[in-house]
Amino acid sequence: MRCRECNAETEHKLISEDYTRKGSNVVVKVKDIPAEVCPACGENYIELDVLKELDPILEPLLESGKAIHLPFLPVIQITLLPEKQAA
Ligand SMILES: [Zn+2]
Repeated sequence: MRCRECNAETEHKLISEDYTRKGSNVVVKVKDIPAEVCPACGENYIELDVLKELDPILEPLLESGKAIHLPFLPVIQITLLPEKQAA
């Protein structure tokens, strides 16, 4: 696909993203998310299907952070299973 920011051709890569929510004391760090990444400007595009699968995993973790008050930010790390290789 073409980058919506700078129109360069994107590359398929596995990326890491930190998810936070306002009012929540938890950072959920997700590794190996399949995405299209722009080599020119660094913009990344995560597929809607992937986001739909991630959401039910992230939701309870971020919600749980609203009830806790700690002097540090707990980081929950999730690593997605590698994608099936095309034969
Ligand atoms: Zn770009």
